[in-house]
Amino acid sequence: MKLRELLREYENQLEEGQRDAYVPKVLFYHLANKEPHELYLMMDEEVDQSIEEEFRKGMNRFLDGEPIQYIKGKETFFTRDFTVNESVLIPRYETEELVENILYKIDDYFDQYKEIELCDVGTGSGAISITLALEEPKLNVIATDISEDALVVAKKNALDLNADVTFYQGDLLQPLIDLDKKFDIFVSNPPYIPAMQDIESVVKDNEPHVALFGGEDGLYFYRKIFNDVKSILKERALLAFEMGFDQRELMEEAVEAAFPHIPYEIIKDINGKDRMLFIYYHLDDQRNT
Ligand code: GLN
Repeated sequence: MKLRELLREYENQLEEGQRDAYVPKVLFYHLANKEPHELYLMMDEEVDQSIEEEFRKGMNRFLDGEPIQYIKGKETFFTRDFTVNESVLIPRYETEELVENILYKIDDYFDQYKEIELCDVGTGSGAISITLALEEPKLNVIATDISEDALVVAKKNALDLNADVTFYQGDLLQPLIDLDKKFDIFVSNPPYIPAMQDIESVVKDNEPHVALFGGEDGLYFYRKIFNDVKSILKERALLAFEMGFDQRELMEEAVEAAFPHIPYEIIKDINGKDRMLFIYYHLDDQRNT
């Protein structure tokens, strides 16, 4: 069968179901190990039998509702390819913005530091911790997750991408408390979707719920972190979180209760939605002296 015909067959099915009709091309160039522009030159060539079989299997999984990232086993984050599977959340574009903002804040507040201790709690695929370690060599990065299966993926990503990150298994801050270490920067993208919130079925039916749902109002894990985190922070520290777009008021309440008189900021993502929380824990006190 010619590539053009094979792609068309699935594009038609997807268009009928009003779904993303670019997915067949994306899957094919992934399987054939080609760049998009090379695909265009191959349209009238016969498709290799074994690739066709794999492609049909993958397309059927997609038609059954699986995310294309799990089918490919990859997602790009900050220009790098990360391995993903059902044990980890698929890295989101919004989270690249969190990483970008953390890098800016490092320049703002830690420019004079020779080494910076950073931890990432609930690292999942390792997208945040590995990217930060690769982008900012001054960072010493420790990452944790409660899920052993997620850590298998994160460790593979660190190895494949040659990133120096140390991983620990455990519940929230516990592994860090056990280490008896203090951090300059605390990062987390905890599960923050309220338990009863209706979310897209492609997310709900495929991605790990342990990485998605954050209790009744979505803030369960933030409150737990806020309560315990001071014991693992250095005297001056930056805390950086991803958060849900509809959580500003609740988040302000939770931050102000746990960190009275400490400055903080909620930053919007590129879509204009509240998405990132930064807490400046005694940061300015020393910058001015
Ligand atoms: N941003 C993810 C979603 O909306 C949720 C990630 C999280 O809970 N940390 O699907």
